[in-house]
Amino acid sequence: GLVDVESPPTRSRLATDANPAIERRTKMGKLSGKVALVTGGSAGIGLGIAQRLAQDGAQVVIMGRRKPVVDEAVAQIGHDAVGIAGDVTVMADLDRVFAQIKEQFGGLDALVLNAGGVGAGPLETCTEEAFDELVSLNMRSIFFATQKALPLLRDPSNVVLIGSVADQIVVPGGSVYSATKAAVRAFARCWGEDLAPRGIRVHLLGPGYTETPLFERITATDAGRERFDEWVAQRTSLKRRGRPEEIGAVASFLCSDDSSYMTGGAIYVGGGAENW
Ligand code: NDP
Repeated sequence: GLVDVESPPTRSRLATDANPAIERRTKMGKLSGKVALVTGGSAGIGLGIAQRLAQDGAQVVIMGRRKPVVDEAVAQIGHDAVGIAGDVTVMADLDRVFAQIKEQFGGLDALVLNAGGVGAGPLETCTEEAFDELVSLNMRSIFFATQKALPLLRDPSNVVLIGSVADQIVVPGGSVYSATKAAVRAFARCWGEDLAPRGIRVHLLGPGYTETPLFERITATDAGRERFDEWVAQRTSLKRRGRPEEIGAVASFLCSDDSSYMTGGAIYVGGGAENW
């Protein structure tokens, strides 16, 4: 219902027209009519992505484990966003989410697999449990969420996998994290080929140092924050952290028809961190 069928405003008229309703409708048009699922869409980068997709006209569904956090995010996103509490590492939860999307919307135009985390620790001390947990969250969940989404993904549609600049660079003591993200990059490359016949395009979006609750947690101490600030100053060309909405802008582009000749590739949004 967002497309103005009677008389679409022309570019020149738009440029001079300060009517916010027209501006809003035009902006919303990019993903208008599309349905998108964003895992981990209740905070941080996922919330930034969900907000931007909704602003650009998509019907957004978010998934996160903590229901109150999901509910709060849904209110923040607005635009009739739908929240579902669930854990991406639990197969029954994924089944439930896709069943609800099928019932409510019939299909999916964009699948943004963002839920992920850090941890596991360095080679010397990483336990089997911590290793398996991170692989389950950052790698295994991506594989099975995509597998389970296949019957819902429309022709055309887009899958955006949130990786990290860590698949390109050395993160001291973070080998398991880097390895899971390199796996995600490989999924995007392979699925770009495998899913092309179905009209599904697949992209890797790799953020750099982005201001999120996760970032807050790992830099919680003054010393930690200082160390990170130094790191960002030395290892990004733009000399600052990224913001979730800056990741959201690129995710929205990838989910739109503007990325029509792209699949299997990687875009890094790290202010240059990916080159260090
Ligand atoms: P946050 O920890 O800030 O947010 C994570 C979100 O995902 C929360 O909404 C959380 O909600 C949800 N989530 C976590 N685990 C699960 C789960 N098992 N099932 C469902 N939802 C879950 O993380 P960021 O926003 O910082 O990171 C998002 C992604 O971006 C990750 O894949 C991360 O690796 C990647 N990334 C982040 C960078 C950064 O600098 N921040 C840099 C590079 C990549 P809840 O806890 O309630 O489930």
